[in-house]
Amino acid sequence: MGTTYEHEVVIVGAGPAGMCAGMYAGRAMLDAVVLERGAPGGELLNTELIEDYPGFEHVLGHELATKFHDHAAKFGAQFKLGVTVKSLRKRDDGMFEAITDDGDTYVSLTAIITAGGTPIKLGIPGELEYAGKGVSYCAICDGAFFRNQVIAVVGGGDAAVEEADFLTRYGSKVYLIHRRDELRASKSLQQRLFANPKIEVIWDTTVERVEADAQGLVNRLRIRDVNTGVISDLAANAMFVFIGFRPNTGIIEGHVQHDPMGYLITDDKMMTSISGLFAAGDVRSQLTRQVTTAVGDATTAAIAAEKYIKALRDGDKEPVIQGSGGYTA
Ligand SMILES: Cc1cc2nc3c(=O)[nH]c(=O)nc-3n(C[C@H](O)[C@H](O)[C@H](O)COP(=O)(O)OP(=O)(O)OC[C@H]3O[C@@H](n4cnc5c(N)ncnc54)[C@H](O)[C@@H]3O)c2cc1C
Repeated sequence: MGTTYEHEVVIVGAGPAGMCAGMYAGRAMLDAVVLERGAPGGELLNTELIEDYPGFEHVLGHELATKFHDHAAKFGAQFKLGVTVKSLRKRDDGMFEAITDDGDTYVSLTAIITAGGTPIKLGIPGELEYAGKGVSYCAICDGAFFRNQVIAVVGGGDAAVEEADFLTRYGSKVYLIHRRDELRASKSLQQRLFANPKIEVIWDTTVERVEADAQGLVNRLRIRDVNTGVISDLAANAMFVFIGFRPNTGIIEGHVQHDPMGYLITDDKMMTSISGLFAAGDVRSQLTRQVTTAVGDATTAAIAAEKYIKALRDGDKEPVIQGSGGYTA
């Protein structure tokens, strides 16, 4: 039989969004707990170097993760690490209930889901081994590391085509490797792709293996023609994979509004279609997914959660969060 804990706010996930939400909740003197299945950091722990977080020209992903964690903990956020939330629901009495894999139950007035998402992997030899050393799932994050080098992009949808085009501002040459003979991407994106002289599409081809030089940096892809089965080598310094991204929303019980890709739709206070359930960071439907956007969302979500709790305590059963603009210290 597990233990039941009560908090004002339960935050699911200790990536940048969850830790920032914890920091703001702590500063607001809320009793907040952050539940994290691994170590604090989220995708920061899979990122070698970050060069686009304001105030830090270069910072290692794990260093930024430690700073976020320590900052949140300093202001009173509690962390429970190594626990996976299996389900999150709003009960009939209006309270939120998160159940973890160790059988414990966390009951709270509000919940903030900051569980991020997972880029879909190719599942080939060398892919995970060389992640951060030439294999990437984020063009805006890692493209600049491959100036004047040869870049391969894998995929055939909007993301792959758009990012291949984006990566030509860095790469001397960009290959788009697609397993079919036509792209799923929108026609306008395809037009842009075909008009770009730096891009060459390699049709009907899969990547079988990623290989690296003596320093462990990617230098070659083994590729296979799906029609003939012929295997050949492609010299490339980077492989960017865009074959899909799954938001981690499966734990939410009951219907919650989401976009066609499964990302949670929120209002401008980061509230989902379930009153009192907020979402922030990569799990949320939005234009881009970066550390800066994750912490921006989380700031709003934590401040909105505080207002929601105050309204609940004032007797409002379905609070509408008031306020726009201005500064909140
Ligand atoms: C390879 C790579 C490089 C990147 N480089 C940059 C960069 O240079 N600059 C930049 O701004 N952005 C970069 N990004 C994007 C950035 O890392 C993300 O936008 C950011 O981490 C999103 O933060 P988040 O908190 O929303 O989600 P995440 O970082 O994904 O954190 C989510 C957390 O939730 C936890 N979790 C999920 N489900 C559960 C559950 N059921 N129970 C408990 N815990 C759970 C996860 O373990 C994880 O710790 C990069 C991303 C990748 C993949």
